[in-house]
Amino acid sequence: MILGSTGSIGTQAIDVIRRNPDRFRVVGLAAGGSRVDVLAAQVLDLRPEVVAVAKGSVAEDLQLALYAAAQKRGYSSGEYRLPRLLAGPGTIAEAAAWPCDIVLNGIEGAAGLASTLAALDAGRTLALANKESLIIGGPLVKQRAKPGQIIAVDSEHSALAQCMRAGTRGELRRLVVTASGGPFRGRSRAELQDVTPEQALAHPTWSMGPLITVNSATLVNKGLEVIEAHLLYDVPFESIEVMVHPQSAIHSMVEFTDGSTIAQVSPPDMRLPIAMALAWPDRVPDAAPGVDWTRAHTWEFFPLDNEAFPAVLLAREVGAAGGTAPAVYNGANEECVAAFLRGTLAFPAIVDTVARVVSEHTNDSGSPAPAGGGLTLADVLAADEWARTRARELTSG
Ligand code: NDP
Ligand code: MG
Repeated sequence: MILGSTGSIGTQAIDVIRRNPDRFRVVGLAAGGSRVDVLAAQVLDLRPEVVAVAKGSVAEDLQLALYAAAQKRGYSSGEYRLPRLLAGPGTIAEAAAWPCDIVLNGIEGAAGLASTLAALDAGRTLALANKESLIIGGPLVKQRAKPGQIIAVDSEHSALAQCMRAGTRGELRRLVVTASGGPFRGRSRAELQDVTPEQALAHPTWSMGPLITVNSATLVNKGLEVIEAHLLYDVPFESIEVMVHPQSAIHSMVEFTDGSTIAQVSPPDMRLPIAMALAWPDRVPDAAPGVDWTRAHTWEFFPLDNEAFPAVLLAREVGAAGGTAPAVYNGANEECVAAFLRGTLAFPAIVDTVARVVSEHTNDSGSPAPAGGGLTLADVLAADEWARTRARELTSG
């Protein structure tokens, strides 16, 4: 089951699946509904049992797009049987619980939470690209997941899982999460003031959806990934380092207690971690090209500039606070990124505004922030909504 099939992760997953028909079969597809033509073409290629779109209003458009795509491929009327079509916001979680072996959650942003919970409750293996659902759900998601039920798709976390195979849990000293540094690496805070959405959307090493691309430029993505690593692998925040590595060849590293560091290396291509997550613990042959060792490579490493890019330190704070704090960080950020892309918020103001909303939340002018076991889904959704409203207020003037 591929959720977010029309996006960057979804289309790359389909590429892996189509090249391995003996290994994988697509049972269902789900997307937001903004690209019905792409979705219709995927349906014709993959013949899933079920297709879901979150936007109820596009149900008819999708049906028409399916008939048009079928006609284009030379099917006469009646010859092509439609899959089951589901439309409306609640239907994505329904698709997430559809009978299948693996659910790949490639939905963008906090909207993926319901599907993550539904897939886990239904007992599916969850190949998780949608890190936001784990981060904002925190203990809610963790409590529902059986050991090994969530497999990370994120390249850094896939790398960490691969590196962790090299030693025992007791031998693990720390995780080193690498960051490309994004398109503005090396700039001072003052030099970030006037950067445009176009510049922020031009990532040097990865081609991804707009939200995660901007998050990579602000380093919010790396902040989210530190929390993600903490939740996935139960490693304390003080044992998770972030290193800037502009070439994105080393996807992350694990240091063991004897001083040995194991790294996972491959050219930046999400098809490798996607294939790993779908086939875990096996590898899929030729998932993506390997490193070309016939030419010279230079790999650099820099410490993070926390002054120009304060997003990772802030994420460590909200991660340690737990409760609804990560949901506030993420919700406020998603609103601020939207404002930045609309041209109404300056680039450095994204993280400044997130920090302000987080601090107001912590000071309890927003919703309560129960840490640990007391967190409910209603708390998370309320905190997400509160953070979005507050961020909109702060960015509208
Ligand atoms: P995209 O923006 O490219 O794709 C998002 C997908 O989610 C689209 O299929 C979109 O459908 C769908 N979608 C949006 N809203 C909803 C909704 N409410 N219900 C169901 N589907 C919805 O994003 P990416 O593929 O880049 O990222 C997806 C996730 O993977 C994010 O959490 C991101 O952080 C993570 N990730 C991505 C990486 C990458 O390389 N792209 C790397 C590591 C992690 P539609 O087309 O109809 O709008
Ligand atoms: Mg990543």
